[in-house]
Formats: sequence, C-alpha cells, structure tokens
Amino acid sequence: MAKRRSTTASTTITAEKDLPTRFEDLGLSDRALAAVSDMGYEAPTPVQAASIPVILAGTDVMAAAQTGTGKTAAFLLPALDRLGHARHGQGPLMLVVTPTRELAAQIEEVANAICARTGHTATVLVGGVSYEPQRAALRKGCDLVVATPGRLIDLINSGDCNLSQVETLVLDEADRMLDMGFLPDMRRIVTKTPASRQTLLFSATLSDDVLDNTKSLVNNPVRIEIAHKGTAAETIDQYVLPISHEAKNDALIEILHREGAERVIVFVRGKHRADAVCRHLRKAGIECAPIHGNRNQNQRASALRRFADGEVGVLVATDVLARGIDIPNVAYVVNLDVPSDAEDYIHRIGRTGRAGEYGWALTFATPEEEFDLRDIEQLMGKNIPVYPRAQGIPLGEKPLVLDPNRTPADRLPGKKERKKLVDERREERMARTAEIVASRSQHQRKAQPKRTASKGRPVESAIPPEKPNAGRRRGKSAPQQRSQAEGRNTAGWAGREKGRRHPGDHGDMPRR
Ligand code: AMP
Repeated sequence: MAKRRSTTASTTITAEKDLPTRFEDLGLSDRALAAVSDMGYEAPTPVQAASIPVILAGTDVMAAAQTGTGKTAAFLLPALDRLGHARHGQGPLMLVVTPTRELAAQIEEVANAICARTGHTATVLVGGVSYEPQRAALRKGCDLVVATPGRLIDLINSGDCNLSQVETLVLDEADRMLDMGFLPDMRRIVTKTPASRQTLLFSATLSDDVLDNTKSLVNNPVRIEIAHKGTAAETIDQYVLPISHEAKNDALIEILHREGAERVIVFVRGKHRADAVCRHLRKAGIECAPIHGNRNQNQRASALRRFADGEVGVLVATDVLARGIDIPNVAYVVNLDVPSDAEDYIHRIGRTGRAGEYGWALTFATPEEEFDLRDIEQLMGKNIPVYPRAQGIPLGEKPLVLDPNRTPADRLPGKKERKKLVDERREERMARTAEIVASRSQHQRKAQPKRTASKGRPVESAIPPEKPNAGRRRGKSAPQQRSQAEGRNTAGWAGREKGRRHPGDHGDMPRR
C-alpha cells in the first residue's frame, strides 16, 4: 500500500458556524432524501449538516461528535449516496469499523434503512456468532461491511475478506477503539485498504491522544467539532445523591419506587455487581435485566429487545452499554457507581435525553467516590446539583458530605494522595461493617441455641464480611475491557457456554 501523507486538518467546521437547516440543502440525492424521510428525520442535526456536504465531496473527515448526535446517519447517508455497487463476489466497497457488537447492530439498522432506497447490500461481521453465514455473504459480494476489529481480522487472515476495493473507510468511536487497545488492529485493517480511499473518522472527542494515533490514517481531513470534551447534552438534568456504600441498594429501590421503574438504565461498575444488583431488584419485585460482557450476544440482544418492548423496566448495565447504544425514550439513568473514567459519565448519561428528548440522570456518590465525581465536574466545568427529592431516602450511616462551595476549578489531590485518602475511607467503612457483623452475630448467639458441629456452623450474619480488597477500584486492563465489550467469557473453557464457541473463533480480540 502506498504511504499516505499524514497531514493536519485543513478546515475546521464547528457547531457555531451557520449550518444548513434542511436535508434538501446538503446535496443528497432523491433516493437518500427518501431514506431520510423513511427514518422520520425532519431536519439535520449539526453533525449531519456539517459532515454530509464534506463527505459527498469525497474529502476525509475527522469529526468529534458524541453519541446521540446523529453521527451514524451523518456518515452513512452521504457515503452510501456516492458509493457504487459491487459485482458478484466483489466488495466490500465501504467498510465501517466499530468497537462493539451493539454499535455494529445499531449501524446496521440505519444502513438497512438507507440501503432499502439506494439498493446497496450490507453485511455485519462481528464475533460471538458463526463464521459461515458471514463467509457466505462475503462470497456473494457486498457493498458495505460493518465490522468489529477482531472478527474482521480473522476473516482477512483466512482469505475470506478482501479490502482491496474499499473506497470509503469509516473508523467509528475511534477514541473507544484506542481505549480498548484496538490500535494495532485498526492499523492492520487500514493497511489492507487502498491508499486512495476516503477515510471518515468519528470520535466522541478529538483529544491529543486520538489525533496523535490516527492522523496518519487520514489525508488532509476537514475537522468537524460538534461536541467539545465534556459536553453533556443540554436536554439532560443531572443530580448527585451523596450516600454511604451500604445504603446504595435500598436507596436504588426507593428511587425506582418514587421515580418509576420503567425505561430506566442503572449503570454499575463490574459484571458481578450488575448481576447482584439485579437479584436485589428482583427480590423487591422490580423487573430488570443485566447487560454486560459476560452475557453472550443473544442474551444481550434479548435484554435490549425486552427493554425496548417494555417487558423489563430496568436495565442494569456496565459500561459496555454506555457508548452508542440507541434506545429511545429512556426516562432516566442512575449511576449506582460513579465511573472511574469521567468521559464514561458523559456517555452513560447520554443514554437519556437523546435526539432532543428530555432526560435526567442521578449519580450515587459515596465518600470513596468523591474524587471521581469531582473529576466529572471538572471535565464538564460545572457542579452537579444535589438531588432535591432525597428526603426520606435511606442514605446510610456515613454518606458523602459534599462541599457546597466546591468549584470545578479547585485543585484535586494528586494520584498518590488520592489513593491514600480513598484507602482510608474504605478502611473506615470496612471497620464499620465489621462492627455491624460482630454485633449481629453476638445478638444471634444470645438469641439462638448453639448448633452442634454436625448440624453446621451458626449463621453469622446477613452482611457478608468484606474481603480485604473488596470494593477496591482496579483499572481494567485493555484486554479485559476488550473482552467485556466483545462479550468474551474470560472464565476459560469451564465458564464457556455450551455450543457458543465455533472452531477458530477468536472473538473480537485484537491480534498481537
Ligand atoms: P446516533 O448519534 O447516530 O447514535 O443517533 C442517535 C439518535 O438520533 C438515533 O435514535 C437516531 O435515529 C436519531 N437521529 C439521527 N438523526 C436524526 C435527525 N436528523 N432527526 C431526528 N433524529 C435523528
């Protein structure tokens, strides 16, 4: 492949510029406009108004647009509008690479609506499902491929997928792909495409990291900035509930009773925690479904469908769901745990208030989570107000006390100091829990006659003692994050679901 020139952006378009307000003024063909009308869009979103004419002109694009801004149609509409048709056994002519299967499914949905008018064919290549139908689709020939990196590389390596005819390459959620360690895979994929291609890079943010790692993949791009770092949709009201750790589950139930348990997404840290919270909610009679990386593709799709159909009112999700997933009319989002990555917060709350709808988000924050919360406030450049309807909600013995005079400009403790403070707070909490456990077991010993050893040990307490590291926040390694997003079971063979593995299936793990 000929080496592409690595150049800086030639033009920058920002949302502040006067942008066209009608799809008819963007240069789209009648068939693309028919697709717009099929999808029920009345006016272009800013990212669409800025990107569509540039993409139609064949120019490379680097766009900063957070999810929920209409970015999928912003690249699919113009790119498909100018795309030719592959002959039998040829193609793809256009390739969209995206980090997760859910995003791929969502892109496919918009693609299908457009292809119904443009006559293109679309194929999705993701891990966790059988290879054969994907191979068959490629053999038949297809115009558009939407793929996650791991499966795509597998199919390239096996000779089933040939990217030499790609005219348009879309790198979707580029920042997320970098976070997940997909950079080597991305580069490998890009080298398989012709140097003459048009490249469209979409990313929630165009941070220095993203720019440094991707600028060699684009050629003299127009830079489009719609969402700035830390911009949360204006239609989302945000609140914080200062609380103590042990009170979270009961407070969640109370919130769901008060605010409604329909169309709610609860975000937590960790897959096991998502399952545990679901068990707790079900005990309280609340219909819910977990969605995280240990759930296989069918389980994840079924949870999303049941939620979209209103069969289950509450989804309990890890950050797998935070980016890109489009579920309309999410009433509100609860962050039961504060995300350790402040930008994940923006993505989480972006699940509500999409495409101009009203939405709100509530974040539970314990003393141990104070600095993560402050990071989020710093990123957004504003404080999150305290939830005004907290009266009567059990907040626990030692809830977080938030300084009402804090400002996002305050200097926060450095990494080392922060770790020390958080460890101290955690130890305090664990000591409190241990006290409760001890006093309960003393109570029980008094109340119950001692059982003999043969009949089992006396019941200690309803609250299990914590492991020394329980609750410790560990940063996930890139491979762990990738496994989670791609739905791979990291428990090894023993933990694998029967029948889900296909010979040679490497899922969507990046290759070394
Ligand atoms: P995306 O940012 O691509 O994930 O899109 C977020 C949501 O916005 C999806 O539900 C789209 O159907 C919707 N959407 C995209 N473009 C428009 C538009 N021009 N008007 C109204 N809704 C739109």
